[in-house]
Amino acid sequence: MKKFIAIAVCKLAAFVGRLLGKGSSMPGKLALRICPDILSRLTLPERIVAVTGSNGKTSTVEMLVRCLTEAGQRVVWNKEGSNQIEGVTTMFLRACSLSGRVKCDTAVLESDEQYARHTFRYIRPTHFMILNLCRDQLTRNGHPEYVLERIAAAVGGDMKLILNADDPLVCSLAKLTRGEVVYFGVAKGVINDGFEPMYDDGRVCPECDGEMSFSEHTYGPFGHWSCHNCENKRPTPKYELTSLDLESGRMEINSSAEISSAIRTPFSVSNLLAAFAAASELGLDGATSAKALSGYALKSGRLRTWKNGDKNITFLTAKHENSVSYDQSFAAAVKRGGDVLVIVDAVSRKYFTGETSWLYDINFSLLASERIGRVYLAGAYVNDLAMRSELAGIPKEKTVLLDSLDSMSRAFEESSELYVITCFADRDKFLSRLPETAKEGQGVC
Ligand SMILES: [Zn+2]
Repeated sequence: MKKFIAIAVCKLAAFVGRLLGKGSSMPGKLALRICPDILSRLTLPERIVAVTGSNGKTSTVEMLVRCLTEAGQRVVWNKEGSNQIEGVTTMFLRACSLSGRVKCDTAVLESDEQYARHTFRYIRPTHFMILNLCRDQLTRNGHPEYVLERIAAAVGGDMKLILNADDPLVCSLAKLTRGEVVYFGVAKGVINDGFEPMYDDGRVCPECDGEMSFSEHTYGPFGHWSCHNCENKRPTPKYELTSLDLESGRMEINSSAEISSAIRTPFSVSNLLAAFAAASELGLDGATSAKALSGYALKSGRLRTWKNGDKNITFLTAKHENSVSYDQSFAAAVKRGGDVLVIVDAVSRKYFTGETSWLYDINFSLLASERIGRVYLAGAYVNDLAMRSELAGIPKEKTVLLDSLDSMSRAFEESSELYVITCFADRDKFLSRLPETAKEGQGVC
């Protein structure tokens, strides 16, 4: 009876929540209050894929779901991205009958790195994909090794692991399952994103604490690694990106599956590769996945554009406390050329912190490029941004400090090609100050 009530309450709350435009974790929270082990009382689909990692969970899940649905499968997934236990509960209860049967072929869960161990007490995924571990949300996550321990607590039994071969920390999880382990990775010489990471994560072997080195960094802090002290080295991927042309979006996986992608950033391409690998492990043939991914524009794409008269404004989402996302956005702006506006006003939507040391993990020197004109800095942390920019060698005459968020109108007036880079936490502050005459165009990720 408790199960029935929890399901009914969750469905009703989700329905009302949708009408009110509310988030997706509250209905699950209510259901868990009524029946704390509701998830273990459901009849779940035979195949459950969980996806976690510091960067790229939402887009990887979206691309995997795209492949599965194009192949005719019925899929349940956490579309809204609520990835802790409440959100996952809402997702399953919305999709199940009142008797608790989840009617689909495959469930795809985006899992929070820290909370997977809690969610998996009730739902054992058959496949667990770990994308990468990078510095992210310092206040909450500490450092990547700390997050690794949290994820390790979620791995076990005979779940199949799908791991990123280019990330040594992720690879160290392989020994924790009795199930099969497969890897995806980027072949040498295929992506060269042109800059080295600002820090030395991945220089200590997770197995023996010996010194490791990278013979090539493919994207971000990842690449072809090996330990000088023990046998630990990058495993051979079953799914390998063997060619890539970022201009045209053409790429090949295992020198055979050809994809013509709308995705043009190295990190997003690695997510696409991960989605392809997971789809293949779920039985899809390469041609079907390649067709599903070709030309596909992400709904969770993080680029938006506006035209304001003859001026262009482009929003490139980054995440505060996450250097990889900033580096990608900076690199994209440098590649296109123009002025940049960086806003750091609230470090997080979820908690308060005034800690800004993460600015020093970001490669601000990219903005010293001749392709970048003015660098506008704004938000409550404008002085921290100014200090970081100066130390990164950005000429003072290029830097414009805006004394209030409203002063970003100056950037909109002065710049004919402006890239606005900030986090979800501060996005609305930018959107609400866009000139009224600005008309939104098509974003391409
Ligand atoms: Zn070692």
